Amino acid sequence: MMSPPNVHDAEPIPEAAREAIDALMRSGDLFRYTAPQDAPVSLLEAEFAELLGSRYALAVSSCSAALFLSLKALDLPRDARVLIPGFTFAAVPSAVIHADCIPVLCEVGENYRVDFADFAAKLDGVQAVIISHMRGHTSDMDAIMALCKACDLPVIEDAAHSLGTTWRGSNIGTIGRVGCFSFQSYKMINAGEGGILVTDDADLAARAVIMSGAYEHAWKKHKPDAELAAAFATWQNRLPLYNLRMNNLSAAVIRPQLSELARRVRDGLANHDYVAARLNSSANIEVPAPLEPERRAPDSIQFNLRGLDEAETRAFAASAEARGVKVQVFGLSRDNARAFWNWQFLPEQVELPQTRAMLMRACDVRLPVRLTREELDVIADILLSALAEVTGPVRAYGT
Ligand SMILES: *Cc1c(COP(=O)(O)O)cnc(C)c1O
Repeated sequence: MMSPPNVHDAEPIPEAAREAIDALMRSGDLFRYTAPQDAPVSLLEAEFAELLGSRYALAVSSCSAALFLSLKALDLPRDARVLIPGFTFAAVPSAVIHADCIPVLCEVGENYRVDFADFAAKLDGVQAVIISHMRGHTSDMDAIMALCKACDLPVIEDAAHSLGTTWRGSNIGTIGRVGCFSFQSYKMINAGEGGILVTDDADLAARAVIMSGAYEHAWKKHKPDAELAAAFATWQNRLPLYNLRMNNLSAAVIRPQLSELARRVRDGLANHDYVAARLNSSANIEVPAPLEPERRAPDSIQFNLRGLDEAETRAFAASAEARGVKVQVFGLSRDNARAFWNWQFLPEQVELPQTRAMLMRACDVRLPVRLTREELDVIADILLSALAEVTGPVRAYGT
């Protein structure tokens, strides 16, 4: 059997980035607001807004910074309660706390998406909502948007891991009031670090731009339309400057990857669905199906183990790892940043039995989009063999 593939390295950065980086090295012009116009960060914002179909985009230092700025731009009062899913990355409740708000956690289902009944039940007293499409699994945006519209609640989409995902043909990140994306190395576009937010709301955009560190009249370099210019005039000198800007070098690394996105999404989805079909042949594995309006853009696979107790689940993960495939069981790895009970910094601790049960048997395996069919087969073979070692010979459906 082929040896297991390296699933940690990202794709090489396109050669086209080299020329822009060399020019920046020669000029030393790394700050987004030095050049009178067309700095790489400004060009990235225009290109990204167009790609997503949004009016405005603001590039920042991380998705966490984008989430923080989104909350600040909503002008929520101190200690406002912000509803977030109980299954997300620790950076999300952290951004809420950073913005002087209080995270309120709701249950997540076995399919990793927001449990709508619990979401609706917890909405009372909440002043904003963040929907984390965790690992690119889209929650039911029809139901969530209808309810939040009825309650006049702003929705922030944490689309960190959802670049390229669509919902009824609309880009994820453009359905809520504001959408936030990450360019950290494990996301669809890799700059090591970086983030961007998109919105159609001129007032929110102006506030976020200024607070991101557009001091004095730097906002003019955002080429504002009339509505945005009026909003900048309203907020001039009235907001703190948090300095969460993106560096020109990051934008130079990101821009040539935008045209790669469609291919990455196509390959990532095909790879995911191929491995999902192979894993679903086992009666002990369930890969949750996408929601009907959703077209996913995965670069990893999540599946639930069925009929295995905790000891067997641990044995499965250990056997897969010994064979060269790392399986993360979210709730079983010590100090996991996606397990809500490890967020001991929360001002209010909660118990979420359904989310906890999901986390104790949900497995996470990386599937970088560059993998070949042969490499995907090696991963699927290893996972199925590790399972057989724990449960006995692989049981196929219907036999
Ligand atoms: C990666 C990720 C984040 C954090 O992004 P950073 O750019 O590292 O701050 C937030 N939410 C989700 C769902 C993520 O996957």
